[in-house]
Amino acid sequence: MREPLYDGHGRRISDLRVSVTDRCNFRCQYCMPAEGLPWLQRDEVLSFEEIERLVRLLAEMGITDLRLTGGEPLVRREFPKLAGMLARIEGLEDISLTTNGYLLERDAAALVEAGIQRVNVSIDSLQRDRFFQMTRRDSLPQVLRGLEALGRHPEVHPIKVNAVAMRGFTEQEALPFAEFARSTAYQVRFIEFMPLDGDHNWSPDAVLTGDELRRIIHAVHPLEERPREPSATARVFRFLDGGGEIGFINPVSEPFCDDCNRIRLTAEGKLRTCLFSVGETDLREPLRSGASDSEIELIVRDAVWRKELKHRVNEPGFRQPARTMSAIGG
Ligand code: SAM
Ligand code: SF4
Repeated sequence: MREPLYDGHGRRISDLRVSVTDRCNFRCQYCMPAEGLPWLQRDEVLSFEEIERLVRLLAEMGITDLRLTGGEPLVRREFPKLAGMLARIEGLEDISLTTNGYLLERDAAALVEAGIQRVNVSIDSLQRDRFFQMTRRDSLPQVLRGLEALGRHPEVHPIKVNAVAMRGFTEQEALPFAEFARSTAYQVRFIEFMPLDGDHNWSPDAVLTGDELRRIIHAVHPLEERPREPSATARVFRFLDGGGEIGFINPVSEPFCDDCNRIRLTAEGKLRTCLFSVGETDLREPLRSGASDSEIELIVRDAVWRKELKHRVNEPGFRQPARTMSAIGG
């Protein structure tokens, strides 16, 4: 084991999000432009072995939670094999996946076999035409089949359904998703729209806050807040009549930077210490030029030490990062 990983603000870092590809089969309004983005070349993307080595090293430094994301992780060839390699790393306690669900019907069994324990499926509307409007793909039935396929594996728990909340769209989704949360075992979470979209259409006005959504739901199905767990991103409420729970991730209206324990690795091996970082640290070059684990450890520690105190989305002069959410790994 190595020394635990701390940033310069005293926060212990224990959560790593790895983007395994920048590519995606969807073009969500809040993430990618309709025409897509210039993809990384194959040799620019970290290999399975390179990802495994970095994750192992970070696990030795106290990373316990690993989330695999993208782009769309399931479009990476043999992704379940990578998940299986990572699941065997000592020290990792929790391995989860964020996916748009399109390929889940094909992959659910292999992912469970590989050791994926928790899955978030992104679904912005339960109505086919509105799902199409948001993702620019007419794929709701396919995604719901994927969700069902996953639901047949009780080893995966919880299964969360995440919807990005955008003003002028998601108001109408609040009650259908509340009903969905009440009638299924899936845990529904709304995520406030963040300035990481390829179209640069974000503005403060475009954010539909978690509080506004909560009020819409509370008026029909009264809610009561549950205690927040340390470093949790969601505020979770239970339906007072016992109909389950629903959550709100409010990074814009109620930033949760104070106890942020997360770092991110992009598909091409850049370490990012905040979603909104303007700088990043290259780990691929040292990896490929023969650096030892201890040398890479020093580079990581130095970058993490300089982790941003907080994001500045709500401050005057905020500049949207050049990378979109798909290129960072949400
Ligand atoms: N493709 C996978 C998916 O959509 O689940 C994984 C990657 S995606 C970038 C990860 C999460 O980020 C998704 O839940 C997506 O809805 C969310 N996301 C993307 N752009 C966002 C934005 N601008 N604001 C808030 N959430 C965003
Ligand atoms: Fe693809 Fe996920 Fe971005 Fe949608 S949110 S474009 S599914 S990476």
